[in-house]
Amino acid sequence: MLKVLKFGGSSVADSKQFAKVKAIVESDPEREVVVVSAPGKRQSGDNKITDLLYLIHAHIKYGVAFDTILGMIKDRYEEIAEECGLKTDIASVIDESFAGVNKRTTSDYIASRGEYFCAILMAEYLGYKFVDATEWLVFDYNGKVDRKTSDAKLRELKEIYGRIVTPGFYGAYPSGEIRVFPRGGSDITGAIVAAALEADIYENWTDVSGILMVDPKIVKDPKTIARVTYDELRELSYMGASVLHEDTVFPVRLKDIPVNIRNTNEPDAPGTIIGEKFEDELKEEHERFITGIAGKRNFSIVNIYKSRIGEAKIGLLRQVLEVFDRYDIPVEQIPSGVDSFSVVFPTDSMQARKYDLMHELTENESIDNCELTEGISLIAIVGRQMAYRTGISGKIFKALGDNKINIRTIEQGADEINIMIGVYNEDFERAIRVLYDSFAR
Ligand code: ASP
Repeated sequence: MLKVLKFGGSSVADSKQFAKVKAIVESDPEREVVVVSAPGKRQSGDNKITDLLYLIHAHIKYGVAFDTILGMIKDRYEEIAEECGLKTDIASVIDESFAGVNKRTTSDYIASRGEYFCAILMAEYLGYKFVDATEWLVFDYNGKVDRKTSDAKLRELKEIYGRIVTPGFYGAYPSGEIRVFPRGGSDITGAIVAAALEADIYENWTDVSGILMVDPKIVKDPKTIARVTYDELRELSYMGASVLHEDTVFPVRLKDIPVNIRNTNEPDAPGTIIGEKFEDELKEEHERFITGIAGKRNFSIVNIYKSRIGEAKIGLLRQVLEVFDRYDIPVEQIPSGVDSFSVVFPTDSMQARKYDLMHELTENESIDNCELTEGISLIAIVGRQMAYRTGISGKIFKALGDNKINIRTIEQGADEINIMIGVYNEDFERAIRVLYDSFAR
């Protein structure tokens, strides 16, 4: 078994966190490959190293001295090196990296140094080989990772060194020039590493014990999702749940390598497993048909009425959607009745053009009546166990009805893993709590 581990910024924020990482890695000999982010915040109000590095780049660009910020960065790494008893002269490594910088130095190069310094220290601390990302992670000139070349190079290096630490977040063009991923990109590096080495599992270590069933700002101490499929994750993250974006782990998804979200501060918690599908559904999962609940506020609905609309409906629908298209308003849902249909969209996309939009629709002679309702929230109830089972939506609507929550719109995805309801903004949090208390506890 081979396990690839990625540790996020808070997991490597200081020497205490470094010690936790070491204990985690050493507790399992299969944990052979480690990817690290740059040190993040140690507490709220603290700075992320990557933010400081981008700040340095801005100073260089405008010709302002950056010694103070570089001093802050050095202090962070020196403290880690010293408290972990490491021999690497990290201050000299940092000085060397910044010796030649000038106005032409790219922000990508500067931003990448956070992961670079961190991986050097972590490799020494774990007694693993430091393998720089520039040695294997190759970007094409179109900005995409050259997976074939990168995978082959990494496999070679793994073969030679066995246990390795590599920095996340960046790679290099064939010319050697550094390029970074978008912010948070170490997750992508970890996924590429796990896929290249055909790992049995990709452990993504962070500061939460997995993905929560619901936003903890709405429900106190919600349960952690034990297992979630990529499709469910997509529905949840689309509706605003702040979880690992499924795009970032695409390389492991393609190879059917499970991702395990774990908590560095609570290493015994099993966390959340993300997989394509699960063969043996657990009894508890079957009984609790909801995997997670997520929602977003501030949508609007335009209701369009036309009596005896019949077959003309499709044509009218097309005309109405064309109007939305022209106003550049993204349509979220189109619930439909016998003589009416509605268009649901984010309120902020309509902005000040709301009167123009409504005027244009009202002018349309094929429409009897149209009205606008603002202040709607959409809530997605997501669960693979809901698919092809009867009575689920009935239970959901009953629970909300019993609590006097009016449902404005209802929609179910074709794969039946998602029921989306629209409620008034003022009922948003209560609706989520009712759903959680009724079906998830
Ligand atoms: N250090 C980078 C950032 O702060 C990348 C990462 O942590 O994944 O965005």
